[in-house]
Amino acid sequence: MKFRKDVIFSENDIFTTKNIEIMKFLIYLVLLFIFSQQAVSQVIRKEFLLSDTINFEGLQAEFGQNKTIPKEFEKQILLALSFYAELRNTKIVFKVKNTLIPLASRPTFWSVFKRRKNRTYKVTISSKTIAFLTPILLKNLSYNAQIGVLGHEIAHIAEYINKNAWQIMGMGFGQLSGKYIDKFEYATDLRCIEHGLGYQLLAWSVQVREKLQVKEWKNVSAKSSSERYMNPETIEKYMKESEKYQ
Ligand SMILES: [Zn+2]
Repeated sequence: MKFRKDVIFSENDIFTTKNIEIMKFLIYLVLLFIFSQQAVSQVIRKEFLLSDTINFEGLQAEFGQNKTIPKEFEKQILLALSFYAELRNTKIVFKVKNTLIPLASRPTFWSVFKRRKNRTYKVTISSKTIAFLTPILLKNLSYNAQIGVLGHEIAHIAEYINKNAWQIMGMGFGQLSGKYIDKFEYATDLRCIEHGLGYQLLAWSVQVREKLQVKEWKNVSAKSSSERYMNPETIEKYMKESEKYQ
């Protein structure tokens, strides 16, 4: 029997070969739209991989405004920033240099006295430090953990933007107290989890403990029972309690 197309598809039928092609194309466009939208929104993921197909141009356009980002950590920084919509227009300079502390964030000196929207913040990424801290330099961490610790640094900025000059100076003086730092860093980890980077922070927390061979961070102020940086179990506990992660 000879196959006759017009028997299956009458002229009035919407399922003509041509229409099917058009529909396929429309479905493709819809999928492409959904996919590109996903790339620029905060989607909680267990693991980000360097091989992921992510619309980095979209991330750059949406979260790269007023940011100075070194090429070598561009993807990680843009991904971490994409979880902080409130910092979309904030001026942040990420800088790689030889410095003891693996990572640090703060407003630039004169910024403290400027209007909040005119401030510039600086995230310093160490490229070289003492032997003990070398394994936890950003470049020596996994991609997922890099996003996590950058998320922690950016969480500091998300707090600074809401503080006035006096409060920021107070936070500076607070750094003289071990107990204050415990609270300050713990709250920053929590902010990072609440922004959706809990799994990445967890990857960092696990990796740092492995690399430094520390099982648990003991708080510096021995009298309190708080942790300075959250232990992996604590991060997991907060994720379990948060609706965001269900
Ligand atoms: Zn911190």
